[in-house]
Amino acid sequence: MKNLLGKKFCYDSRKIEHGCVFVAIKGNKVDGHDFAKEALKKGASFVVVEKDMNLSNQIIVDNVIDFLLKLAYVQLKAKKVIGVTGSSGKTFTKEILNSLLPGSFKTPGNMNTEVGVPISILNEYKEQEVAIIEYAMNKRGDIKRICKVIKPDVGVVLNVGRQHIGVAGNFENIFYGKMELFQCSNILIYNANDERMIEYVETMNKPKVSFGMKKGDVSLLEWSYIDNITKAKYRIYDEEKKVILNDIFHRGHLLNIAAAIAAVIGADQKVCWECLEKIKNVKGRFHWKNVGGIRIIDDTYNASLSAFDVAVETMLKVNAKRRLAVVGPIFEQGKFSKETHERLSKILEKLDGVFILDGYEGSEYIKPKNIIVRAKNKDKLAEKVVNYLRNGDIVLFKASRGVMMEEVLYKVEEMLK
Ligand code: ADP
Repeated sequence: MKNLLGKKFCYDSRKIEHGCVFVAIKGNKVDGHDFAKEALKKGASFVVVEKDMNLSNQIIVDNVIDFLLKLAYVQLKAKKVIGVTGSSGKTFTKEILNSLLPGSFKTPGNMNTEVGVPISILNEYKEQEVAIIEYAMNKRGDIKRICKVIKPDVGVVLNVGRQHIGVAGNFENIFYGKMELFQCSNILIYNANDERMIEYVETMNKPKVSFGMKKGDVSLLEWSYIDNITKAKYRIYDEEKKVILNDIFHRGHLLNIAAAIAAVIGADQKVCWECLEKIKNVKGRFHWKNVGGIRIIDDTYNASLSAFDVAVETMLKVNAKRRLAVVGPIFEQGKFSKETHERLSKILEKLDGVFILDGYEGSEYIKPKNIIVRAKNKDKLAEKVVNYLRNGDIVLFKASRGVMMEEVLYKVEEMLK
C-alpha cells in the first residue's frame, strides 16, 4: 500500500493524468467501477476497485474510501491538524487560518468530503507542520467517517444552521452530525453564542477555547465600515485588539476570524496579525465592487438564511442611497422550503427593494412586501435591475448555487459599463 504514496490519485475518468492511481468511487449517480477499464486505457497506472474486474494493474480492496482514508493518514505528518466544520463559513475560516498560519497546508476548494479530504492530502500535502482540514457533512456519520481516521488536534465548529436540512432530515441530525468533529478532536473550539453547543461541550472533558459575539475567550466586541475598510475590535481573554481589514466583511466573517484566532491559540501557534490586513473576499462570496457609482455585492456562490441575514445587516450598516437585492431561492430545504423562504422574505423586507428570479424550486415562496419585480428570464430581470439602479445604490446578488445568479449579475455589470 505504501508504495502508492507519492503518486497522483484520480477519480474522474474524464480527468486522468498519466500515471495516476484511479480510485473507483461509488457515487449516487455513477459507479467509478464502470470507468476503471477506460481509466487504465487513458494512462492510469493502477485502478483501486472493490471487486475483481479482471484488469491488469488492479488493486482490490474491501472499501475504496476506507482505503483512501488510511493511505491519507499515513501521508499526513503534520504536528497539528486543525479541523473546521460548520453550516456557514468553512471555506472562509480555512482561508483565514491559512493566512494566520503562513506555510500551513489546507484542503483546497471544496475537497471537504470523505473522498475530497483524503485525495487532497494524498495529492497536495507536502510535509507542512500545520494542516487545516475542512470537514463537510450532508448527513449524520459523514464527519465521523473521515475524522475517525484523519483526527484533528483542534476541532472548530463555527455554527449550526439549517443548510441542507432537506437532505439531513431535521435540525437534530445537522447538530449531532457537526458534533462528531468534537467527538474526535482533542481541543474544542466552540461558539459561545450557541447555547446548545455550550451545553454539549460542557459534558466533554477536553480543553476548550470559545469564540463569539461579545462572549467567549475570543470575542468580537464591535465593528464599523469606512469606505471599503472594516474596523473590528476583539477581546482575546483580557486583552483588547483592534484590527483593520482592507475589505468589507460581515458579522459572520468577523466571527469566523474570532474562531480562527481561537483555533490558533488552541493549536499553540502564534497569530500573524499583520496577515489579516491582506485578506480579501473572493469572487462570488460577498465580494464588493464599484461599477459606475453603484456598489455591487457578488454573493452568488451560495445562499442560506444566516448568510442572507448577515449580508442584509451589513448593507444596513454602510452608507448608501438605496439598498437593493436580486435574489433567488435557497435549495435543499425539503419540507421546510416554505418556512425558510417566509423567513427570508422578512429579512429582505429590511431593504429598499427586491428583485426576484422566478421559476426555481422555492422561488414562489419569496414574497417580501418590497418586491419591485419578479421575472423568470435572467436577461429580462437584469434589464429591469439596470433600469432601476441609480448612482449611490448598493445591490446584493444572492441565491443557491444551482440558480447561477452570477448570470444575472454579469449581464447587469455588462449593461452598466
Ligand atoms: P461554506 O464553505 O461553509 O459553504 P463559505 O465561506 O463558502 O462557507 O461562505 C458561504 C456563504 O456563507 C457566503 O455567502 C458567506 O458570506 C456566508 N457566511 C460565511 N460565514 C458566515 C457566518 N459565520 N455566518 C453567516 N454567514 C456566513
